[in-house]
Amino acid sequence: MPAEARLSDRGSYDAVVVGGGAIGLCCAWRLSQRGARVVVLDRATPPAGATRVAAGMLAPVGELAFGEPELLRMTLLASEAYPGFVAELEAASGVNSGYERCGALHLALDRDEAAELRRVHELQRSLDLGAEWLPPRRCRDLEPGLTPSFNGGVHAPEEAAVDPHRLTQALLAALAAEGVEVRAGVEVAEALLDSERIEGVRTAAGEELRADAVILATGAWAGTAAWLPEHARPPVRPVKGQILELRAPDGEQPCERIVASERIYLVPRPDGRLIAGATTEERGFDTTVTAGGAHELLREAYRLLPDVAEMELVEAMAGLRPGTPDNLPLIGPGELDGLILACGHYRNGILLAPLTGEKIAAELAGVEVAG
Ligand SMILES: Cc1cc2nc3c(=O)[nH]c(=O)nc-3n(C[C@H](O)[C@H](O)[C@H](O)COP(=O)(O)OP(=O)(O)OC[C@H]3O[C@@H](n4cnc5c(N)ncnc54)[C@H](O)[C@@H]3O)c2cc1C
Repeated sequence: MPAEARLSDRGSYDAVVVGGGAIGLCCAWRLSQRGARVVVLDRATPPAGATRVAAGMLAPVGELAFGEPELLRMTLLASEAYPGFVAELEAASGVNSGYERCGALHLALDRDEAAELRRVHELQRSLDLGAEWLPPRRCRDLEPGLTPSFNGGVHAPEEAAVDPHRLTQALLAALAAEGVEVRAGVEVAEALLDSERIEGVRTAAGEELRADAVILATGAWAGTAAWLPEHARPPVRPVKGQILELRAPDGEQPCERIVASERIYLVPRPDGRLIAGATTEERGFDTTVTAGGAHELLREAYRLLPDVAEMELVEAMAGLRPGTPDNLPLIGPGELDGLILACGHYRNGILLAPLTGEKIAAELAGVEVAG
């Protein structure tokens, strides 16, 4: 879009992005870089929603499940592109995103878990994902703090992690540098419709923002967006996840890489925090932190890394993953002209955010992007 055209039409936008989570912010950044005049609206202050509580694993191998080849193709592509994205974002924003290619170790704590892990590892091998089965001694060489008794593990050295809070701050700074307004505390309450075309949105305060495209990036709330006609609401449901933040009193992490079992993952942050997640619960929009959820996470964390018992419990949180019927994100045109979906990223929204931003920006420019 030529700059003169953008500046001549100040009352309206090329795109209004509804939702300032990782997905909405990445979309806005990429759109703005292509010259679009964009505004982001969020009813809360970013990071809110799932992005606020996410562990930030960038883990295509760890998230691999049978029967999801399309998702794997996307997550691998996204993971490969992440270092380049982070380098560009950090240069544009001056904010460190906490990205680290730390690797991951998936442990089998008993014989049943070993049989299941071997089955998954066969799939990883058949797909050439670079993960290796290790006996307990070699696992312990990598992570000396592991529990004394377990049945082996899978090492996935390419897995990485990012800090979603820092990622958000970096995106906000990059957007500010581009002159893009991110308006916190602004709830979208109504769609401006002309028959089957969306021409903008009205906020809860009654302000109208007109745009050629409205990007639906409202995460778990996309499926119940009462401001859209019913047929235009995508099939997205909330999937609750509880998660804990721990901190070592001396800053010494009990592990260097992501350590996981069938029931839990532990993600070390460069600043000495350890994230223990996460439950998976179908409870609608409930975000209560329960004693049972916290207990399960602490018990399973302790079973993997006994030193966790000495750590400070900093915070317990719950968030809502935006789930879809086939676990694939919804990226592209919606059921109204001008409505673009960028939602339904379920367990992989932090990983898939940059790729989604690329795809949405390309979609609006009429260009095809791989992935
Ligand atoms: C416990 C947990 C752990 C996770 N761990 C990982 C992980 O390790 N790696 C990974 O890749 N992913 C992870 N995820 C998934 C990831 O967090 C999500 O897929 C991702 O954050 C979705 O981002 P989003 O921007 O679509 O949604 P959100 O971050 O939920 O943002 C949606 C935003 O829309 C706003 N909004 C909603 N309705 C309106 C409205 N009407 N008007 C204005 N604003 C509105 C909300 O306030 C919110 O800020 C995890 C999720 C959970 C819950």
